Amino acid sequence: MPSGSADCLFCKIAGGELPATIVDEDARTLAFMDINPATRGHALVIPRAHAADLHEIGEEDLQAVAVAARRLAGRVRAQLGADGVNLINSCGAAAWQTVFHFHVHVVPRYAGDPLQLPWVPAPGDMDEIAATGALLRG
Ligand code: AMP
Ligand code: ZN
Repeated sequence: MPSGSADCLFCKIAGGELPATIVDEDARTLAFMDINPATRGHALVIPRAHAADLHEIGEEDLQAVAVAARRLAGRVRAQLGADGVNLINSCGAAAWQTVFHFHVHVVPRYAGDPLQLPWVPAPGDMDEIAATGALLRG
């Protein structure tokens, strides 16, 4: 399995070649703000090593991503006042996957928020995303 893929958007973010609002990282994972947020604080957790999807990711990376997603879920509750969190992974185009580097969406939920799944992606306000990312970085 390749540790990186030249054409992969998220490998470029992990490699520092593309900008992102990073909110968490450890030896195996990276988390950054989604630029088309479904709700305030929507972030993505990825393994640093390239794996296209749930079928490809190694067990240790999968565990590390799960632990990182829970860490971030705790922060969206503590820092953003989220009432709940959806962890979402889409595996395959038929399941709405559009970026083929494994990722878990950490979607903060607020009581009564209007989010419907699947959401229709729309660009967020980059200043607001950066400010919310700063809160999440803790
Ligand atoms: P999925 O459709 O589950 O594959 O999710 C891909 C997610 O990546 C979408 O929610 C996009 O908004 C998000 N996304 C795409 N490009 C970027 C980027 N450059 N920085 C942050 N998030 C991105
Ligand atoms: Zn990749």
